[in-house]
Amino acid sequence: MTAARTDNPADRTGVVDVVVVGRGLIGSAAVRHLAESGRRVVAVGPDEPTDWASWTGPFSSHGDQGRITRIADADPIKADAARRSIERYAELERRSGISFHHPCGLVVVPLDFDRWLATSLAAGAEAAEVDPAELAATTGITVPAGARVGRDGPPAGMINPRDLVRAQNVVARLAGASIVAEAATTLTSHGTGRDGVVEVGGPWGSVRARRAVVATGSFGHHLLGRRLDVVRRPRTVLLAELDEPAGPGTLPSLIVAPGPDDRLESIYWVPPVPYPDGRTLLKIGGSLTSNPVVGADAAGLDPHDPATDRELVEWFHGSGDPTEIEALHQSLAAMLPGAPPRWTSTVPCVYTGTPSGYPAIDWFDERVAVAIGGNGWSAKSSDELGRLAAALVTDGDLGQGPDQTVFAASWATADVSRPTGG
Ligand SMILES: Cc1cc2nc3c(=O)[nH]c(=O)nc-3n(C[C@H](O)[C@H](O)[C@H](O)COP(=O)(O)OP(=O)(O)OC[C@H]3O[C@@H](n4cnc5c(N)ncnc54)[C@H](O)[C@@H]3O)c2cc1C
Repeated sequence: MTAARTDNPADRTGVVDVVVVGRGLIGSAAVRHLAESGRRVVAVGPDEPTDWASWTGPFSSHGDQGRITRIADADPIKADAARRSIERYAELERRSGISFHHPCGLVVVPLDFDRWLATSLAAGAEAAEVDPAELAATTGITVPAGARVGRDGPPAGMINPRDLVRAQNVVARLAGASIVAEAATTLTSHGTGRDGVVEVGGPWGSVRARRAVVATGSFGHHLLGRRLDVVRRPRTVLLAELDEPAGPGTLPSLIVAPGPDDRLESIYWVPPVPYPDGRTLLKIGGSLTSNPVVGADAAGLDPHDPATDRELVEWFHGSGDPTEIEALHQSLAAMLPGAPPRWTSTVPCVYTGTPSGYPAIDWFDERVAVAIGGNGWSAKSSDELGRLAAALVTDGDLGQGPDQTVFAASWATADVSRPTGG
């Protein structure tokens, strides 16, 4: 191994057990689980850039201060992955010394209320129906007329995704993992069978390992040289500093589908929390009913045709979609009429979706596995998804838990050329 900025966990041949490419939510969790199971593991991936405008990528999809966490879900597989992850939050916080979980509760207006309630209760969530008038009186939240409203009590609420990644990194390092805080530009297999190794490299050097996990989120799929079937969709989030009465600590997280503005299929918010600039900000986002693939010009494009990483970088250098921003302003005004924002800003983000709606945690070839496709719900469940990826590359399969087919990768037929660098 010829990597800068690492301790060296390699054996005498310079080969580690596993290299994990991508230090986002899922990759960092995989690294921790691998290190704690005694594997010699190296994580390769950059830290979040301090200056987005000059950063040429890759970007992560967790670059802000809040993600909703909840067990309650109309989908039992998602509820189970969340529950397994949430059960480990406290231990991870204790061992890392980093607090990332804030159980402020959740208010939900689901598409199918009865199914949401039944599945959530079966999964162990503290779910119940609430009276919209009482909700408005106690929180100021005004739901669309006629909506049935659910509430999910603690541990539902929010997590700070940056702090969760930091916590995973701290505990993984304590267990012996090494970190190369650089992007990978190449992934190459050498040899065959038991003697084969996979080499992950870049201008910084390279790491050789028996197995690799590619957990690069929206970026870096070209490392594989074969196209994973995913869509990468731009999302804009609005950050709002609120006037009283709804201030810090008084609001739960929120999900409403459909959203109060018909340009948005659904909306969510994470309640006001401190941001690095010293402001305390509510984050509201949604999904536009007409959401283009990044880089797509117009109709006629295959919706599964992903944009280039360069186009995604340009998206991250911008300030978001004006239509989405306007619709989010309208939604916030409708849902929280008593607390108009006195300051707002916007942040670009990217959603990575698979055809199944579940992350692809699967073999790419005999040595390389993927753990890609958060589908907009994987932050809260990233510890369990990372654990599954770790199990795949150490045990060969996902073991007990969801059937392998749930997380099967779907591969597009066309190959892509492997990068030569940059
Ligand atoms: C706007 C928005 C809101 C969301 N809200 C929620 C929510 O409330 N609750 C929830 O549970 N989920 C939410 N999600 C989903 C959640 O954030 C994602 O599912 C999650 O971030 C996916 O984790 P990941 O590890 O796959 O990707 P990421 O967190 O994006 O991490 C991927 C990492 O790979 C790195 N990488 C890429 N290419 C390379 C390379 N070549 N070499 C090395 N490293 C590389 C990147 O730098 C990055 O750090 C939301 C997503 C979006 C877009």
